Amino acid sequence: FSTTHQVKPQKICVCVRKRPLNKQEVIKKEIDVVSIPGNGALLVHEPKQKVDLTKYLDNQVFHFDFSFNETATNDLVYNFTAKPLVQSIFEGGMATCFAYGQTGSGKTHTMGGDFTGRQQNSAKGIYAMAAQDVFTHLNHKRYANLELSAYVSFFEIYNGKVYDLLNEKTKLRVLEDDRQQVQIVGLEEVYVSKAEEVIKMIQQGSACRTSGQTSANANSSRSHAILQIVLRRNDRAATLHGKFSLVDLAGNERGIDVSSNDRSTLVETAEINRSLLALKECIRSLGMNSDHIPFRLCTLTKVLRDSFIGEKSRTCMIAMVSPGMASCEYTVNTLRYANRVKEL
Ligand code: ADP
Ligand code: MG
Repeated sequence: FSTTHQVKPQKICVCVRKRPLNKQEVIKKEIDVVSIPGNGALLVHEPKQKVDLTKYLDNQVFHFDFSFNETATNDLVYNFTAKPLVQSIFEGGMATCFAYGQTGSGKTHTMGGDFTGRQQNSAKGIYAMAAQDVFTHLNHKRYANLELSAYVSFFEIYNGKVYDLLNEKTKLRVLEDDRQQVQIVGLEEVYVSKAEEVIKMIQQGSACRTSGQTSANANSSRSHAILQIVLRRNDRAATLHGKFSLVDLAGNERGIDVSSNDRSTLVETAEINRSLLALKECIRSLGMNSDHIPFRLCTLTKVLRDSFIGEKSRTCMIAMVSPGMASCEYTVNTLRYANRVKEL
C-alpha cells in the first residue's frame, strides 16, 4: 500500500477492516480467527464440530476491493475509501460512505476517530479527514469558478425516527414531496468555512449522541448516525451541488436480544435488521443502474434517496470485523452481507 497512490472511485467499493484484539481479549487468550493474506482476500477460520464430535477449522475465503488488517491506520483506510469520493461531490455527485459491523468492531473508531483528546496519539476519523479534504478542494483554484459553499448536518436515526444532533436531539419529520424529493423538515444545516468548525460540530454532535437518559439517548450502538457535508452554489436559492453522507450504522448483531422479553428491544432489533436489509437492496440497485430504487423501505434509505440515483453517485462500504473467535458468527454474517452488496 502506498498512501500517495491515487485511487479512481468505483461506483461501489466494498472493503473490510479488521481491528486488533483488545486488551481484554488478549487477557482472555482470545484466538484470532481472521487472516488477511493480501490482494483484497480475507479468511475466517471458523472452529466447527463434526457429528462424531471431532473438531475442525472451516476456512472461508472472501474477496473485497480492499481488506485492511489490524495494522492499518485510519489514515490508510481513509485514503482508499472515502478520499476518492470527495472529488465526486465537487463534480456534482452524491457520495456515501458506510461503516457497517457488529458493535465493538470499530465503526465509530473509523468514522469519528477519538475525540476525547486525552490520548496523545488520538486518531483522526474519516469524518474529520473528509472535512479537511473538502476545504482543500474548495480553496483550490480548479473549483473556484464553481462558487460553492459548504454546510454540515449531523443527525441520528433511532427506531425509524430522525433526531438532530446539532439541535439538542430535536425529533424531526421526514417528508416526501410529489417529485419524490425527500426532506427532513427543520434539520439544522450549518454553514462552515473551515475544517476546524466541522470537527467542533462532530465533537458536539457525538457527545449529544451518547449522553442523556431517554431510550433514544442511551443506545448509540442501536442508532445510525449520519454526517452530511453539503455543497451549495452561492446563488440566491443556494442550489444543491453535491453531498457527502458519512454513516456510522447501528450494530448489525442480528437478534442479539431475542431472548429478552423487553418489547422495546425487540422492536429496536427488528427495525435495525429491516433498515440494513433495505440499505443492501438500495446499494445493489445503484450498482445495477436500476430505475427502481426501493428507497421507501425505511427511514435510513429514504433520507439517503439522492445517494442511490444518478450517474455520479458513488458509494463505499467499510465492513468492520472483530478478530476474536467469540465473534466468529457475527464476523461471517458481516462478510456475507458485504459480499452481497456488490454481487450482481
Ligand atoms: P463500534 O462503533 O463498532 O461499536 P468502536 O469504534 O467503539 O466500535 O470500537 C470498540 C473499541 O475498539 C474502542 O475502544 C475502539 O477504540 C477500539 N478499536 C476499534 N477499532 C480499532 C482499531 N482499528 N485499532 C485500535 N483500536 C480500535
Ligand atoms: Mg459505535
